[in-house]
Amino acid sequence: MKEEVRQQGPRGGEAAVPGSQAHQELEQPHLRSKPSELQLDFEKLDGLLPAVVQDHHTKEVLMVGFMNREAWEKTLRTGLVTFWSRTRQTLWTKGETSGNHLRVVRLWTDCDRDTVLAEVEPKGPTCHTGARSCFYEEIVDA
Ligand SMILES: [Zn+2]
Repeated sequence: MKEEVRQQGPRGGEAAVPGSQAHQELEQPHLRSKPSELQLDFEKLDGLLPAVVQDHHTKEVLMVGFMNREAWEKTLRTGLVTFWSRTRQTLWTKGETSGNHLRVVRLWTDCDRDTVLAEVEPKGPTCHTGARSCFYEEIVDA
């Protein structure tokens, strides 16, 4: 009997993270998430969650996109913000063509668990126009 792979020891130490078995559907999860992710409410908006993206350092809001469950799980798996493109009907990892990735630092959900907030380290400008943020058109300044 080979013993080269030794896992699942009852006193295995750091490998045994409480609740980690709940994420077994994610192969090699890049980000360790908390149990609340399993209760995200994808139903309210026909399988989609609005995802607000915020610069981790400056707290500037960079963009808003939508994630379906697959996009959410890919975001967790890769550590790069991935959306569901409603126009192209496909998964879209931000920066896949421009190189301007959004590397996840923290992920939050709100009180209703129907919206997510991604704190990121942006690689380059987020907006396709070259602006740092998509929110550069002011409408009201009271
Ligand atoms: Zn934009």
